[in-house]
Amino acid sequence: MSAKVIDGKAAAARLKAGVTAAVAQLKSKHGITPGLATVLVGDDPASHVYVANKQKTATEAGMNSFQHDLPATTSQADLLALLKKLNADPSVHGILVQMPLPKHIDETTVVTTTSSAKDVDGLHPESAGRLVAGGDPLVACTPMGCVMLAKDVLGDLSGKHAVVIGRSKLVGKPVALLLLNENCTVTMAHSRTQDLPAICRTADIIVAAVGKAQMVRGDWIKPGATVIDVGINPVPNAEGKRKLVGDVNYPEAVNVAGAITPVPGGVGPMTIACLMVNTLKACCAQNGITDVAIPTSLPPA
Ligand code: NDP
Repeated sequence: MSAKVIDGKAAAARLKAGVTAAVAQLKSKHGITPGLATVLVGDDPASHVYVANKQKTATEAGMNSFQHDLPATTSQADLLALLKKLNADPSVHGILVQMPLPKHIDETTVVTTTSSAKDVDGLHPESAGRLVAGGDPLVACTPMGCVMLAKDVLGDLSGKHAVVIGRSKLVGKPVALLLLNENCTVTMAHSRTQDLPAICRTADIIVAAVGKAQMVRGDWIKPGATVIDVGINPVPNAEGKRKLVGDVNYPEAVNVAGAITPVPGGVGPMTIACLMVNTLKACCAQNGITDVAIPTSLPPA
C-alpha cells in the first residue's frame, strides 16, 4: 500500500490564507498592519532567494515588508546598531536576520541582540526557555510547520510515540518539545543513539532532521506510521545534475508509511507560512491584541 503524500505546498497555502484573513481582521478592527523586517548580509544567491520569498509572502498576506540588504563587509557593530533600531521601531513587529552570516559576525550575539518579542525565527534563548518552562513564545518556524502537518494528518497526537531524529536548537529540540506539548511520548535520537532502526520501528510519528541523505530506510518504519522529513540534501541525479532529497529514503518509505512528506514540497513550504504566523502573533502581542484569530493549526482544506 502506498502512503498518503502530504502536500506541503497546499498546506502552506491554507495556512497563508488563514494568516491573510487574520491580518485583514487586525487592520479593520485595530488599524494596525504587521511589519516584517528582513536583514540580509552579503550576496549569497540562495539567501537572496529565501529573503525575497519571505518578503513576497509577507506582502501577499497584507503585511508591510522592510528590506535591509547590507554588504558582506558590514561590521558586527553596524549590524547590531541596525537591530537595536529595528527593536525600537513600532512599525516593525518581526525581525528576520537571514543565516548564515559572514564569518566575522557572531550569530549568537545577533540572535540575542534581536528583541525576543520580535525574533520571528524563534531562535532567541528566551523563547527556547519559555518553550521548556511553559508559556506561548514565538516558536521556530520549521518545527511549528512539522507539528501542524502531523496534526493535520492524525488529528489528536495524544499518546502517540514520536521519534525525533536530530537534536539541533533549530529543529530537533523544539520539535520534540512541541510534540511533548501535544502529549506525545517523545524519543529524541541523535548521532550517539544505539540501534536507531529498532527505535524508529516503534514510532507512530518519525520526524527526521538529520541532514544525511536518505538515511532512514523503509524497513525502519512501522507500517502506517506518519513520516515528516525535514532534511534537505543536495545529491547528483542520473545526469550528474543537482537534485534535493530528504533524510528519508522516500521510494522505500512511501510503501510502508501511512503518510509521508516529500522532499521537496513537504516541510519546506510550511516554514515560510509559519514565519507569517509568527509575525502576526508578534504584532498582536506587542499591541496587546487578543481578539484576532491567529492560526494555531492548519485551517481545514
Ligand atoms: P544539524 O546538523 O544542526 O543537526 C543534525 C542532527 O542530526 C544532530 O543532532 C546530530 O546528532 C543528528 N545526527 C547526525 N548524524 C546522525 C546519525 N547518523 N544518526 C542519528 N542522528 C544523527 O541540522 P539541522 O537540525 O539544522 O537540520 C537538519 C536537516 O534539516 C538538514 O538537512 C537541513 O538542511 C534541514 N532543514 C530544513 C528546513 C526546512 O525548512 N525544510 C529548515 C532547517 C533545516 P548530534 O547532536 O549527536 O551531532
